[in-house]
Amino acid sequence: MKKIVILCMLMLSIFGCSKGDDYLIMGTNATFPPFEYLGGRDGTSVVGFDVAIGEAIAKSLGKKLKIEDMDFDALVPALMSGKIDFAISGMTITDERKKNVDFSEAYYEAAQMVLIRKDDLSFLNITTKEDLGAQKKLGAQLGTTGSLVATDIAGDNPVTDLKSYELVVMELKNKKIDAIVIDREPAKAFMSKNDDIIELPMDFDAEYYGVAVKKGSTDLLNSINETIKNLVKTGEYQKYIEQHIQNYSAQ
Ligand code: GLN
Repeated sequence: MKKIVILCMLMLSIFGCSKGDDYLIMGTNATFPPFEYLGGRDGTSVVGFDVAIGEAIAKSLGKKLKIEDMDFDALVPALMSGKIDFAISGMTITDERKKNVDFSEAYYEAAQMVLIRKDDLSFLNITTKEDLGAQKKLGAQLGTTGSLVATDIAGDNPVTDLKSYELVVMELKNKKIDAIVIDREPAKAFMSKNDDIIELPMDFDAEYYGVAVKKGSTDLLNSINETIKNLVKTGEYQKYIEQHIQNYSAQ
């Protein structure tokens, strides 16, 4: 009996420990096409450009990738508590976030865009950000740079912040808000699936997406940077761009 117990404990310690080591856990918020969204054959797998990058990172370290789909504003806390190994979620590198997590080199250049309803003719009078902020109700996703930009434009007016851009798009279509501030590629992805929303042309600063890790995870960060560099060098990165970003609207 004693031998069996010892054997069980031994097995448990071997499998218990090695199991976690076979995987790297990527945190993401799968409501941000074409970077991460639910798709695949059954429509329930997390797919997209960022997943391809995450797979490459795990592979380069000889590990399998496990994906944790969570709210966007839960990603930084999940990194800090060690619940996930890295976050790839179209996350803009900002000084504010750098206080809590470390970022890889930038892997994608982005910018904000404004979306409105196609049939909203009142926008014919809106040509500047000042007009937009003073006259229109803006919406964005909670905890994003889009929300910060919207707040900046809105001045003293309130901004509607919701848990996902999918919900914000619904809010626009249902006429609860007048305009959305959202990253350019997801904006194009939502336009490709909703022919009743269009872009309100305006200029915004460039933003850069990075892979986030827990502060001080130097080894992991170095290999993530190495992987990104290699993907670019071998042409894989360009393939991911074509496959996941340029082809998204055609799906
Ligand atoms: N790039 C934006 C940010 O970092 C939005 C990211 C997202 O909604 N997934 O805040």
